[in-house]
Amino acid sequence: MDEIDGLGQLTDYRRLCSDLTLQTKKEGFFKDYLASIVDQVSEEEFQEFSKQQTDYDRIRYCWTLPALHKTMKSFRPSYRGKLADDSAKRREQGNEAFKEKDYRKALVMYNQSVAYAPYSSLLEKTTLALALANRSAVLVHLKEYRLAVRDIQLSLQSNYPEKQRYKLYDRMGYCHQQLGEPAKARVAYTVALDCLAESDLELHALENWRQTVEKSRSKLASSSNPSNKPITTVNELPELLGGTHPTIPNASRNLSLKVDDNCGRYYVAADDIKPGQTLVCEKPYAACLLPGKFTSHCHHCFVRLIAPLACVTCRGVFYCSVECRDEAGSTYHQYECGIVDILTASGSSILSWIALRILTKGKLEDFLAAREQLEKGDGMRLAQQRADDYSCIYHLATLSHLRSDKDFFDRTFMALFLFQCLRASGFLPTRHRYEEDALNITDDEIFVASLLLRHLQLLQFNAHEIHEFVQLNEKNMRSTKTAYIGVGIYPTVAFFNHSCRPDVARYFLGTAMVITSSRSIRRGQMVAENYGPIFTHKHLADRQQSLLGRYWFQCQCPACKNDWPVYDGMPDMESVLICCPLCRGSLQSVNSSYARCTKCKKQSLWEAIRRPVDEISSLYQTGMRIMDLGQVDKAIHVLGLYIEMMETLVEDLPIRELFLAQEALRLCLGTYGTKYVATSHLSFKAAAGNPDNKTNA
Ligand SMILES: [Zn+2]
Ligand SMILES: [Zn+2]
Ligand SMILES: [Zn+2]
Ligand SMILES: [Zn+2]
Repeated sequence: MDEIDGLGQLTDYRRLCSDLTLQTKKEGFFKDYLASIVDQVSEEEFQEFSKQQTDYDRIRYCWTLPALHKTMKSFRPSYRGKLADDSAKRREQGNEAFKEKDYRKALVMYNQSVAYAPYSSLLEKTTLALALANRSAVLVHLKEYRLAVRDIQLSLQSNYPEKQRYKLYDRMGYCHQQLGEPAKARVAYTVALDCLAESDLELHALENWRQTVEKSRSKLASSSNPSNKPITTVNELPELLGGTHPTIPNASRNLSLKVDDNCGRYYVAADDIKPGQTLVCEKPYAACLLPGKFTSHCHHCFVRLIAPLACVTCRGVFYCSVECRDEAGSTYHQYECGIVDILTASGSSILSWIALRILTKGKLEDFLAAREQLEKGDGMRLAQQRADDYSCIYHLATLSHLRSDKDFFDRTFMALFLFQCLRASGFLPTRHRYEEDALNITDDEIFVASLLLRHLQLLQFNAHEIHEFVQLNEKNMRSTKTAYIGVGIYPTVAFFNHSCRPDVARYFLGTAMVITSSRSIRRGQMVAENYGPIFTHKHLADRQQSLLGRYWFQCQCPACKNDWPVYDGMPDMESVLICCPLCRGSLQSVNSSYARCTKCKKQSLWEAIRRPVDEISSLYQTGMRIMDLGQVDKAIHVLGLYIEMMETLVEDLPIRELFLAQEALRLCLGTYGTKYVATSHLSFKAAAGNPDNKTNA
């Protein structure tokens, strides 16, 4: 392959990578929409577009193109709304499964019944209450008492029939008893007895109930042990090494931010860092769940769903709790509710969703008020004021000076598509919902659309995938994998540079990202993370191509500069460590007791040479064994010690055991993150259930 050809291929590859950051699906109408625009735009118009210098000018110019006006669809919000009849039908199906003791199936049907049930229709007041009440019964059978109590409370708030309330309070009492909360159980049983007076039970049945409830209440003193294990565990955020950095929110004091022309902004160690220490803990500025996970994970906090609550208005997104539902519903989802279906159908990439979310999670007036400040702000400033400050996002690298005109053109039309979604969502002033006014655009609106264009550029280089740690077998540490569930933008983490031999590992607590050291890093050294290609798994040429294509830079990390072998070609620990103690030359055996250096010719005792190697080797074996036993904290400690010792002995060399130990350390640290044990009794697919949404199944 000659050089020109290679360059051409790289350009094509870069183009492909860049396109993928706009749309990921082969299907979806955006692709055809863009193609029809491209067909109609003349060469002169494209030349004129190429002359536009700012995002604002690009948006303004494209809005004047006849091609846009001819193809412009006026988007209207569309909801996958509630259907009371379908809710009742699914509740019936749930009841049948419940009678047959097929509790999993019953839960799936009740989940759908809850999702379909209208929230506020006066006629259908009880549909939601009945769906929730029936689901609480199956949750009791599945020992999900906490969720059962929540469903009972919601059912009571949703107008559950007075005459049958005694049943719900009795069930609530039982749940509290099982949760080890006798005081709450007593209150619930007492209310159940009061409610019996409202029931329409025959006298005999009423008396039976009364006795049963009283018996449950009197037995409360000897309440059982709490037994409620959620399928997903989310730990609290860990503490940062040395405390929080004074000017970089979410970062450890042991990091310091540097800037130069070659590397842009990057972190160095402000002090020595040992393996396994927490360097950054950051909640995303904005994060979006993959549409394929909408029925299995909470739309807001990304945990697995068992008994989901749907959005109040639509049945397209699901939440784990009232808190998540209300937080999303009072911020971004109030706008996105009506455009989720348009976005899904368009085939837009997840990055396009985040480009929009960065706006919908905020307030229009705040963006407009910040305009002047943003436009004159210094993009390379080092100090950040607040992590929730939008300017931290705005000033992330966009590499606009390297971007092709065609890339800008496609991206501008995606921004304009998202802008039209925003208009339909109600985020912008509502007059534009009227079609006759759709072709007008205000200065403020051009600014908002230009922010979308900017987001589409910076997200390409700065967004992070969000993973869930899946353990296929609770007893086997090695039976783990990480599952890709969403994408987020983390302004503090975004400043890490890349290395094919990373210094850190990441794990997630819900959507919060935690960065820990996976090597020992000396004061003053760069601290780098990994953007994708790791040297142990990919050859130099592949890594360079993927980084140039996806992130537009030539990697200069030690693995790239020295063309380190991939895992299969790496030397093992013994072959590197067994050498002349004086000059590190290779050894020749003299006899069973002595060895001679091939370089300096000095003789040494085999025993003296072997002893330190055996010691460090046994540390490695111990660390790996402890990890296999599932003793994570201890394993992290021992593996950390091993890594530190090895790195002092051999400095920067690729050695098989050293990288296995770093992988093991990564795995152990991963267990601190959101963990989903796939063998749990509730680990079945489609917890939320959404039968008319097949692409998500
Ligand atoms: Zn949640
Ligand atoms: Zn909704
Ligand atoms: Zn590299
Ligand atoms: Zn020697």
